[in-house]
Amino acid sequence: MTDTTAAETPTVLAPDSPNAIGRMLGLLGDEWNLLIVQQALLGASRYSQFMSRLPISNSVLTSRLRTLVDNGLLSRTVHASTRARTEYLITGRGRSLWPALLSIWEWERNWVTGHHEALPAMRHVACGSHFTPQLRCNTCCVVVTGPEVALSLGPSGTWTRSAPAASTRRRSEPDTATRHAGLFPETMSILGNRWAAALLVAAFLGTTRFTDFQTQLGAPPSLLAERLQTFCHIGVFTTSPTERSGPERAAYLLTDKGRAFFPVLTAALQWAQWWYQAPEGPAVVMTHADCGSGFTGELSCDRCAERLSGEQVHTVAI
Ligand SMILES: [Zn+2]
Ligand SMILES: [Zn+2]
Repeated sequence: MTDTTAAETPTVLAPDSPNAIGRMLGLLGDEWNLLIVQQALLGASRYSQFMSRLPISNSVLTSRLRTLVDNGLLSRTVHASTRARTEYLITGRGRSLWPALLSIWEWERNWVTGHHEALPAMRHVACGSHFTPQLRCNTCCVVVTGPEVALSLGPSGTWTRSAPAASTRRRSEPDTATRHAGLFPETMSILGNRWAAALLVAAFLGTTRFTDFQTQLGAPPSLLAERLQTFCHIGVFTTSPTERSGPERAAYLLTDKGRAFFPVLTAALQWAQWWYQAPEGPAVVMTHADCGSGFTGELSCDRCAERLSGEQVHTVAI
């Protein structure tokens, strides 16, 4: 039998424990977790199906299935009747990750050139078109690209809770194996490292200076410098030197590619803030300037303007 209670009900976070951002990075910062959830959404449910669909080792698959079950993204059911058979089924918590996965897919397809093979396009079943997902405000239905949404830190949004030390350890070990899969390489250089992810959130909050990133995040300067360099290298940030130039005085600004990550960030945050609720309030507060409401986004098809659902999106090779 399966315990689905934890999977279908939001988790209430204990005071001072990792907040929604911390929980999000702990789960989505691991590419295998994303790929397994993606396959589960596409219908895989047996261990052998995940094995045959992903370039994954037995030990990594076993450990990630356990993580996903423990965190309520998959449910594990053992059918004892005929031969003992174990099924891993996607839960509501796992299924509601599809907007984040779709946004990652779209960003990688458009902005990342290093893919071994081009990522297939997506087709909207309802209208039959190849489409681009658009992010809209749930309240006023206007399409947003990022600058219209103001982000600020909420009551549970301290950096010690957002970038917990524990979230890097687990990820460092399977790194080489993960790169093999490589479907979302640059997403992982952002979400797969706690300082990188925190840095990007801070950039969307308006931070630009080295010293301000350092003060706000409490990040070690050497790590911060390394992450800023990576972001400039992959083209997510660009530097604008001031008159007294030098790396610590330069301004680090989001590029078009960096700003285009906004739908991924909002989809991931929205998922995390729904499923991991802090009684004192959210980690990040989003406000839509056009309508003045608290911002929650939904994805729609740019061709027919219909709201998208996970079942209605197919990938197609072109
Ligand atoms: Zn709005
Ligand atoms: Zn459509």
